[in-house]
Amino acid sequence: MILVLVGPPGAGKGTQAKLLCARFGIPQISTGDMLREAKRSGTLEKRYLDIMDSGGLLPDEAVIGLIDRRTAEPDCRGGFLLDGFPRTVPQADALDALLVGQGSGIEAVIQLDVPRSLLEERLIHRRTDKRSGQIYHLVYNPPPPGAELEHRADDRPEAVGKRLDAYEAMTAALLPFYEQKGLLRRVDGVGTPEEVTQRVMSALGRPGSGGE
Ligand code: ADP
Ligand code: ADP
Repeated sequence: MILVLVGPPGAGKGTQAKLLCARFGIPQISTGDMLREAKRSGTLEKRYLDIMDSGGLLPDEAVIGLIDRRTAEPDCRGGFLLDGFPRTVPQADALDALLVGQGSGIEAVIQLDVPRSLLEERLIHRRTDKRSGQIYHLVYNPPPPGAELEHRADDRPEAVGKRLDAYEAMTAALLPFYEQKGLLRRVDGVGTPEEVTQRVMSALGRPGSGGE
């Protein structure tokens, strides 16, 4: 099973990815997480680091290489969920070519829809636990005492607007690309995380299955 989650920053891709991967027993592949890990370990090129922190998108070849290598690992043999990739048509083309080479294909592309005013509010209050990777929200899902919290540089208000604009500009062509292939499933991302997961399951034709 190969699933793709698309949606603007703050739509809940990371939150849903964790819930869906636990249900389906497949690994989550998040280019954002992989890039932040490279940043922490000091292996991310300085020019990429600057682009990331200011809220811009990295060049396609930088993220395609990451996906090429990660999807070749043994835990991806039974499928995987992509979160935050592809974001552009060249990335989607590269993914298609990669999957054709593996004799597999995408089952569905889930688009999480959330109005912009809510996205800003979600991003500015997002915090992540450095150790567990768990995603929190200072108001909706407050972190427990003792969590080692990280506030992403690109979740500062200055970078948030730029990221939302970049998403709109660069994905304007991506969604029609998947729509034409009949793979796009639009899901309302407003509601509790569990409600959103149920909508995703229905969109995948598996209402009520697993996890209850
Ligand atoms: P993305 O990966 O799309 O950027 P995240 O999953 O990191 O989004 O979520 C962004 C913020 O919104 C986090 O603070 C998260 O806790 C919060 N959040 C995610 N889903 C919901 C939801 N359904 N309702 C309220 N807040 C949510
Ligand atoms: P969010 O959860 O807010 O949607 P991500 O964690 O997916 O953001 O990505 C964080 C940053 O990493 C992006 O703003 C961008 O700089 C870089 N990045 C992640 N995935 C991609 C991609 N597919 N193409 C280009 N840049 C990417």
